Amino acid sequence: MRPRRQVPTGRSAGACDVTVPNVSGVPEGVGARGYVERVSSSIDQHPLRPEGDTGARQVRTALSPSRAGDFQSCPLLYRFRTIDRLPEPASPAAARGTLVHSVLEDLFDLPADRRTLEAAAAMLPSRWAALQEQDPRLTELFTAEQAADEAAWLASATELLGAYYSLEDPRWLEPAERELRVDHELDSGLGLGGIVDRLDVAPDGRIRVVDYKTGRSPDPRFEDKALFQMKFYALVIWRTRGLMPTVLQLLYLADRTTLEYVPTESDLLSTERKLQALWDAIADCLERGEFRPRRSALCGWCAHQQTCPEFGGVAPPMPELEIVPAGHRVD
Ligand code: SF4
Repeated sequence: MRPRRQVPTGRSAGACDVTVPNVSGVPEGVGARGYVERVSSSIDQHPLRPEGDTGARQVRTALSPSRAGDFQSCPLLYRFRTIDRLPEPASPAAARGTLVHSVLEDLFDLPADRRTLEAAAAMLPSRWAALQEQDPRLTELFTAEQAADEAAWLASATELLGAYYSLEDPRWLEPAERELRVDHELDSGLGLGGIVDRLDVAPDGRIRVVDYKTGRSPDPRFEDKALFQMKFYALVIWRTRGLMPTVLQLLYLADRTTLEYVPTESDLLSTERKLQALWDAIADCLERGEFRPRRSALCGWCAHQQTCPEFGGVAPPMPELEIVPAGHRVD
């Protein structure tokens, strides 16, 4: 079943009129059109190791859409992020994604009739200040001399909010959940977890899973990869609530496109099998202590070229590893 694409409509569907025709760690627009990961958005980001710390690295028997996407794209990238926990600089595009997500989350705190584009845009400066306070890397994105660049960047965030309003009108929506943490452990002990941008629940119980993307929609050849993240969430929601989501909806703000997909039981069972197979492949790499680089178009957005053999770099020595259960809190 192919996903359905939509262009902007006059009035959006509310949570109660989930349209059901044909409804990925893979963050923000993957494929030839770009790869941008939100800053500080990954719930599965492990704490960075203090410099000189040579103790055993703990790796949880767990996957999130982002880390699953990392391994599928490049096993070495998975290692750098999950095991070595190498720092990555913030980027204006990723920070803008985080900022727009923050506004779209908080917007629903306002009474329905006050959720206007003007109100959303007015939230940007205070949310930006709050994000900078949470993540000191963001304060280094723009120096005092780059005030004009920062203003243009904020204006581009306003444009993305405008694009959001062309796809749906938040005055007609009452989300059941925002930035919802979902977790489930498979019988095998593999933990699956992530954060869903928004969950809409209709009065009759039908569930719509919504994810905002500030990048462009993927080329149809890469739609399956983009939907993988949504099927991951749908699987966890199905397993934890006993109810399969009716619609998975991706809102791509940069090109004002909605991608919708109706999951089936066989889809989600297949996703479950794929995730288990993916973890088995990761476990094999952990066992052998070998994560190979996989060069692709995504390398252009990778922060680790300097330590990647594909680009003449040398990866740090593989640390001693300790595999811990999914529920274990990683040091
Ligand atoms: S530069 Fe490319 S091959 Fe190297 S770690 Fe990054 S994504 Fe993998």
